[in-house]
Amino acid sequence: MIITDVSVRTFRTKTKRHSDSAGHGHPGPAHKVAQSLLTVTTEDGHEGHAFAAPQVVRPHLIDKYVKKVLIGQDARDRERLWHDLAHWQRGSAAQLTDRTLAIVDCALWDLAGRALNQPVHKLIGAYRDKVPAYGSTMCGDELEGGLATPDDYGRFAQKLVARGYKGIKLHTWMPPVSWAPDVKADLRACAAVREAVGPDIALMIDAFHWYSRLDALALGRGLEKLGFAWIEEPMDEQSMSSYAWLAGALDIPVLGPETAAGKFWARAEWVKAGAVDILRTGVHDVGGITPALKTMRMAECFGMDCEVHGNGAANLIVAAASRNCRWYERGLLHPFLEYDDGHDYLKTLADPMDEDGFVHLSDRPGLGEEIDFDHIENNRVA
Ligand code: MG
Repeated sequence: MIITDVSVRTFRTKTKRHSDSAGHGHPGPAHKVAQSLLTVTTEDGHEGHAFAAPQVVRPHLIDKYVKKVLIGQDARDRERLWHDLAHWQRGSAAQLTDRTLAIVDCALWDLAGRALNQPVHKLIGAYRDKVPAYGSTMCGDELEGGLATPDDYGRFAQKLVARGYKGIKLHTWMPPVSWAPDVKADLRACAAVREAVGPDIALMIDAFHWYSRLDALALGRGLEKLGFAWIEEPMDEQSMSSYAWLAGALDIPVLGPETAAGKFWARAEWVKAGAVDILRTGVHDVGGITPALKTMRMAECFGMDCEVHGNGAANLIVAAASRNCRWYERGLLHPFLEYDDGHDYLKTLADPMDEDGFVHLSDRPGLGEEIDFDHIENNRVA
């Protein structure tokens, strides 16, 4: 299965998500944005695909790094190809990121699954075929009837429970919301949600990511009284010592790191430092399915859970192939959006959820996405 080509198709897709000045998504009018599909092809005609933001697979990266590593190599040698690409990062002047590594790794897994006619979670060795999902809200906003007040969060949480979710994670208010951040407002939203859904729904928070140690401590203490399941990334993750300090001071589990650089190596250091109670990984944060599984297994060696960041087929596969992970993160969700509408470039949802809150893995070969290649061709951009 010698790789003969790596190509990228960029196309337009319709979305109602808009980014604010800090990069957080919020609902708005439908508009079109660019999306890319990376395809790896072998000499015997097998293909593997993975979706990416266009800048993650821009020509400079594909031509200078990805093609040089992949072309002429055996597509089944994922471990070696991953390391060869990761070694290029050092000399790439920060151009070659973990995101690009992740997309390439996902495409190679997809190729293996399609070639063998097996879903990837079965190739890895599945732990389960369905994973409980928590509903992950968008960040707070100032939209009337949106996520502007604690009561808005409470009402939306009731809708999510009615839809089937057994867990909910709040992203609360962050700049550029005019008055944010505010620990007391975060706690009011969390209290409103607990009041709205009762004691049996798991609740988590992912608040402002740059609180001070003392603000994070106050937030955590308040959440302990509300019976929250974890506190996620309340401080800058570049200070691991601050997390060790916080995890030592709080009873509520501290979860992380999510955005910190360093893949599984850095996450091992966090475990060693006692900086977290629940570890975090994510296919697009640590460089692919291959390193996400290493992170997951490393946590298992220490008797720790490791929760997967982000939605989509690849993250769902990592959760399904692991025992020490409770949830799949489904979202981001907002009262003005219908998540189950999916994407116009996929014929079916990658993460269909039943009325009991379980997301079911696909039986389709590869990553399991049912790609609408006609849509992609009909909406190509140069
Ligand atoms: Mg997060």
